[in-house]
Amino acid sequence: MAANDDLREIYDLARRAMECQADLGHKELICEARESGGEQPSTQATELDTTTAILEDDPVILEKTEFESLEKHRAAICECTNCTLGSTRTKFVYGVGSPQAKIMFIGEAPGRDEDLKGEPFVGRAGKLLDDILKAMGLSRDQIYIANILKCRPPGNRDPQPDEMRLCMPFLKEQIRLIKPTVICALGRIAAHGLLDTTTPLGKLRNQWHRFEGTPLIVTYHPAALLRFQKYKRPTWEDMQELLKEYERLNENES
Ligand code: SF4
Repeated sequence: MAANDDLREIYDLARRAMECQADLGHKELICEARESGGEQPSTQATELDTTTAILEDDPVILEKTEFESLEKHRAAICECTNCTLGSTRTKFVYGVGSPQAKIMFIGEAPGRDEDLKGEPFVGRAGKLLDDILKAMGLSRDQIYIANILKCRPPGNRDPQPDEMRLCMPFLKEQIRLIKPTVICALGRIAAHGLLDTTTPLGKLRNQWHRFEGTPLIVTYHPAALLRFQKYKRPTWEDMQELLKEYERLNENES
């Protein structure tokens, strides 16, 4: 077990070095190794694939793996340390709700309360989301809630592009397994991550987008509603539109 821990530590150090060099724009990985016997460091250049700055035999590289169920997927990735957030999280936050949900809500990342509980959208923002769902005639066990990142960024800072890139395959697999009819992106960062855009949230509202073929609507994050009352009405309008499209698509299917 100790040997495995040592190996993991070496993997983590190597992976972080690769990520740092990728961040610096290096196309090659520069490895410096000091030989025993005190010789000068030898330098070896290796082709660096900047799209996967992670080790090939890392057990959590599962981008192309399809799972039978959310439970099996969760079990396979819950020890993930593919980015540095894996070493600072308290709890891994996979998602919550019905595996057969037709409506899926997606936020950006766990916050402090979510990190402590291991569940997305708890605390005041989560309570407000529950109230919104109730007003829509829904409850948490009828829908599914997840974040792009499964681990909390320290201090609730914004997720970094590399963190979202490394974590996005996990969300895509959740969506593949759940097969929601419609997706709702909660907040600017979730919308930007899912739609790969920097368009302001206000301009992304009032229209339907697609994520991997699934219709997607954008609205404000519940935490923003706690700070700005003025967002409550437009959010409710977005939820009405979401329900309308969901019912329309359901009718077409039946
Ligand atoms: S945020 Fe995602 S990629 Fe990073 S360690 Fe957590 S699960 Fe892995």
